[in-house]
Amino acid sequence: MGDFAPTEGYAESGSAAAIALENLSHVYRNGRGAKNVDLRIGRGEVFGFLGPNGAGKTTLIRTLLGLIAPTGGRGQVLGLDIVGQSRELRRRVGYLPGEASLYDWLTGYQNVDFALRVRGVADRSRLKRLAGVLDVDLGRRLKTLSHGNRQKVAIIAALAHDPDLLILDEPTSGLDPLMQETFQNLMREENSRGKTIFLSSHIMGEVEALCDRVGVIRDGRMVAVDSVEHLRKQRMKYVTCEFAGSEPVPDLAAVAGVRDLQVSGQGRRFSFAFTGSLDSLVQSLAGRGLSDLTVTDPPLEEVFRAFYEQGGSR
Ligand code: ADP
Repeated sequence: MGDFAPTEGYAESGSAAAIALENLSHVYRNGRGAKNVDLRIGRGEVFGFLGPNGAGKTTLIRTLLGLIAPTGGRGQVLGLDIVGQSRELRRRVGYLPGEASLYDWLTGYQNVDFALRVRGVADRSRLKRLAGVLDVDLGRRLKTLSHGNRQKVAIIAALAHDPDLLILDEPTSGLDPLMQETFQNLMREENSRGKTIFLSSHIMGEVEALCDRVGVIRDGRMVAVDSVEHLRKQRMKYVTCEFAGSEPVPDLAAVAGVRDLQVSGQGRRFSFAFTGSLDSLVQSLAGRGLSDLTVTDPPLEEVFRAFYEQGGSR
């Protein structure tokens, strides 16, 4: 275990979870990094970790894998302490780094084989199966492969020992859209086999398609952790409305929570993004000859944009 004083209940909740972080930080000397992260990811969950470049995703991942030491807080991964048991932890986790550390002069097969030997795994059947699924020639030297094919080799190296927890930093970077879909199917299959998946991404569609819950990180802090469904529902609505007749239309630009207002239909049709109480919005619209009203959930992309533009207030 690490050198922190035990807190009641932490050890039990930590070992039952795939990932349990408590006030975990790794702050660089320049004040950047990952700060005071509390996070609990259950076994079998698919968790997406969203944030633009520089938000602190890689720092948090490297800290929870014990590759860099926390500057504060603590964590357990698969019940193992991220400081005191980090070697064992890394043996058991499948980690795909953002910048894969593969050996250029070795073939794809040799790279994956090496990763398996380090872990003492003799079985090569998954290696072969994954190479088939991802359609990559493992006989070629890494230096002759495209970025996308190198990424496939890195994915195979992360998965070939059949780990219970996959930690994937921007897994589909460099993969073409068809291969991104293949990758997503592979993740669904792994998850149906009980595997926990923690992936960082800036591709909303991917996170939306795969994840049960997402965490949004900004300036090193986790500013929201919620289900994809709930985030989309809660944060914002897309609204379109139209007014028939000749009565004056409401001044929507003045209604609190309305943004990106677009006007068409001779000034009688409006579309906008809305955050706030639907009840009070409907009251502002009523009694003016409202003839059409649609309210839809925005794509995750928009929710995410709002987090960054509006300062991420909940
Ligand atoms: P992300 O993975 O979300 O792109 P990173 O975790 O790589 O973000 O970086 C988070 C912040 O920490 C950035 O501002 C980055 O410049 C800074 N940073 C990353 N690595 C170091 C380092 N070794 N020393 C100092 N600052 C760093």
